[in-house]
Amino acid sequence: MSQNLEQPVVNSLNKNVSNERKLGFMEKIFLPEIFKGMWYTFKQMFKPKVTMQYPEERWDPPAIFRGRPVLVEDNGQERCVACGLCARACPPLAISMQAMEKENDDKERYPSFFEINMLRCIYCGLCEEVCPEEAIVMSKDYDITFESREDAIYDKSKLLMPKEELKERLDFLREYKNRQYGQFWNFPEDNNIHSVRNRDKRWETSLSLVEMLEEQKAQGKEPSLHK
Ligand code: SF4
Ligand code: SF4
Repeated sequence: MSQNLEQPVVNSLNKNVSNERKLGFMEKIFLPEIFKGMWYTFKQMFKPKVTMQYPEERWDPPAIFRGRPVLVEDNGQERCVACGLCARACPPLAISMQAMEKENDDKERYPSFFEINMLRCIYCGLCEEVCPEEAIVMSKDYDITFESREDAIYDKSKLLMPKEELKERLDFLREYKNRQYGQFWNFPEDNNIHSVRNRDKRWETSLSLVEMLEEQKAQGKEPSLHK
C-alpha cells in the first residue's frame, strides 16, 4: 500500500494507531522497571562524587578551557598594541578599542580604551587566535554576572590580568598554538617592542622614518626600511 505523505500516520489526533508491540504482564505493572531505576540510583550513592558545592567549591578548569577573554598585563602595562585584528575577527562584534601612541616608550601603540561587550561574547577564542602579540587570551574565569547591560561592557579595568595569573594558558598556547611560529622567531615575549624609534637608534640616523625614506629618495636610492 502506498503511503500518503500528506497525512501523517501517527499524531495526537489520530486515534487509529496500532501499538508497536504488545506489553507483557510485568511490563504493564511497571514495578520491575521502577525497582531497576531505584537500584541504579542506589548504586550511584557509593560512587565518587563529581558534583561540587558551588560557589563555596570552585572548579579549576584545565588550561585548554576557554573562559572569558582577558587582556594580558605585562610589567604593569597591556601587551596590546591596538592593531584591531581581534575586533576584526570577533564574529559578534563584541570588541571595540581606540589606538593611541606613546612618546617615551619603546612600545609605541596602546589602546586608550579597550572594551568587550560580554553580552555579545560567545567565547569562541578567535580574538586569541588572531592576536599577534598574545595580548588577549581566554582565561579560566567562567562565573561572570552583571545586573545591567552597562555592567556587561568590560573595560580595561576589568579586562587586564597579570601574565603571572595566566601562566597556564600562555604555556598552553606556546605548546599547542605558537609552536609553528616559534621555529622562526621568539613569539611573542618581546614581540610588541617593534619600535621604529629603536630601529633608528640602532642605525643612528637620528632621522624619522619618513625623513629616512625621503633622504634615500633624494640620494636616488630605492626607498627601503632595511638600511
Ligand atoms: S571570544 Fe570570540 S566572541 Fe568573545 S571577544 Fe573573542 S572573538 Fe569576540
Ligand atoms: S589583536 Fe591583540 S594586539 Fe591587536 S588589538 Fe587585539 S588584543 Fe590588541
